[in-house]
Amino acid sequence: MSICIEQVRKSFGNFVALDNVNLNIKTGELTALLGPSGSGKTTLLRIIAGLEQADSGIIRFNSEDITGQHVSERGVGFVFQHYALFKHMTVFENVAYGLTVKPKKFRPSKAEIAKKVNNLLELVQLGWTADRYPSQLSGGQRQRIALARALAVEPKMLLLDEPFGALDAKVRAELRRWLRRLHDEIHVTSVFVTHDQEEALEVADRIVVMNKGRIEQEGTPEQVYDNPANPFVYEFLGNVNLFHARVKQGQSSIGQLRVPSPEYTNSEEQDGLAYVRPHEIDVFNLPQPDAIKVKLDLVTIVGPSVRLEVLAESDQQLIHVELPKEQFKQLNLKQGEQAWILPRYSKVFLGEGI
Ligand code: ATP
Repeated sequence: MSICIEQVRKSFGNFVALDNVNLNIKTGELTALLGPSGSGKTTLLRIIAGLEQADSGIIRFNSEDITGQHVSERGVGFVFQHYALFKHMTVFENVAYGLTVKPKKFRPSKAEIAKKVNNLLELVQLGWTADRYPSQLSGGQRQRIALARALAVEPKMLLLDEPFGALDAKVRAELRRWLRRLHDEIHVTSVFVTHDQEEALEVADRIVVMNKGRIEQEGTPEQVYDNPANPFVYEFLGNVNLFHARVKQGQSSIGQLRVPSPEYTNSEEQDGLAYVRPHEIDVFNLPQPDAIKVKLDLVTIVGPSVRLEVLAESDQQLIHVELPKEQFKQLNLKQGEQAWILPRYSKVFLGEGI
């Protein structure tokens, strides 16, 4: 089922939580609403669900206007961060719950319910927990059961609010990959809220970046990561280094270097910021034309990568660099030594210098 959000506004008192939001979500897509705390992600999810009413605007499911529809009519499944499973029910009973409380004429037979629940437990790879109680499961297992429970009633869409937020980093990472695989199998239109950019980049088909009740950018993970629309998206999606740039007539000057910036045609010189991610910087052990002379202040090995904190000799700017361990070894450089770096400048935004 596709979702269309048109001109949605929502205020709480004087506070505007959603400011004219427009968004289209295609059938079968896994979409992440990504943004800092308070950006309006949960409010938007709750409005899609029907748990909250927008002040104005329209919500359509498959082009049908469902703005005034009650949550129970919308056919959505939920998983929340703290999705309380019924403690006194077994895993099996929890997953079966939504089916057993259906009105009699829609309720499947006991045998059908059993078959369905067992299939769902297999789908979330927890068939062996059917007779256990929630207290006998780990946090990650509980969230998988919560998902099976949401899927039992065959929702037309699945809404997940920080589903892995309460879990530790390792379990989160496992569940992300697991959710991706599960979605590849069942293809139900899904929207999940997260403030974790890695989670969104790894799991989602599309990312909607939110800030202060507005959508800053929407696109595939590659689009928003490699081609951010503005500084907010650039900074929110990963570590960045900023360099002062002077922008004039389609060109940016960063130190001695000139890079094309065809989007800025103004003939007056303007201040700008050149954005460079840590892995977009080449490191050398000998001087290079246009390279910045630095001191390796800190060298940290993180699995197959090396992270460097380097200080520019000219102004002591701290610059973060990341490169493959093998590449770093070949340079034969050590902490405290001198090196030369050459940032691969690709994105310059107009704005005040640093
Ligand atoms: P978080 O990641 O912290 O949950 P979020 O992006 O999901 O943030 P929302 O929960 O949508 O943000 O909240 C957006 C803003 O609206 C917040 O500043 C919040 O305090 C406010 N807000 C949300 N619900 C209500 C409410 N029922 N009454 C008053 N203010 C609210």
